[in-house]
Amino acid sequence: MTPVLDEEEVWILECIKDVQADRGFHIRDVIKKGKSEYGISRSTVYEIVSYLEFHGLVRTNSSGYREFDETKAYSVICPECGKEIPGDEYVSENGRGICEDCYLEAHHKIKFADPMAVRSKKLFRKQRGLEGSEGLTDLQKDLYDFILTEGGATPEKISKLFGFTLQETRNQLALLRHCELIKGRKMGDEIYMVPFDS
Ligand SMILES: [Zn+2]
Repeated sequence: MTPVLDEEEVWILECIKDVQADRGFHIRDVIKKGKSEYGISRSTVYEIVSYLEFHGLVRTNSSGYREFDETKAYSVICPECGKEIPGDEYVSENGRGICEDCYLEAHHKIKFADPMAVRSKKLFRKQRGLEGSEGLTDLQKDLYDFILTEGGATPEKISKLFGFTLQETRNQLALLRHCELIKGRKMGDEIYMVPFDS
């Protein structure tokens, strides 16, 4: 059964992702971060980490460190609209795991006629005469141009080149995906962002 994480659990997961190094993470660092960023008590951190361990999201590796297992599936409930979304699809916004639609709604970077349907988002842009990268922020244009020039790139590569966190990169890419300017394509073991028409 796929665990559904609540808001506090998402906070802890975000803390873990932040403090995790190659060899894993130390719970002490999660406690520190959980306290300073979200005011979560030590005992709550322990409780949540055991819950994550129970569901296999966190495990102890061979060096004795705990680590977050990115391959394990989980869901979160969007605190804005209550929709259940897969763990790798939420957007982290001030530590809250919200769905892409609510993220876009909140930012009004590109306002869509119907936040639920990609089709209407495309239509909305069309009706306003927005073509290609029009209506995007400079940053989104840069990202889009980069993907066009390269023909495709992984979010990891983009985040390194542009100096963003992976989550911020995913947020920006999600927006471009919603506009049907780019799409994901699996190549080997990796997902590349490629131009939508390619
Ligand atoms: Zn939502």
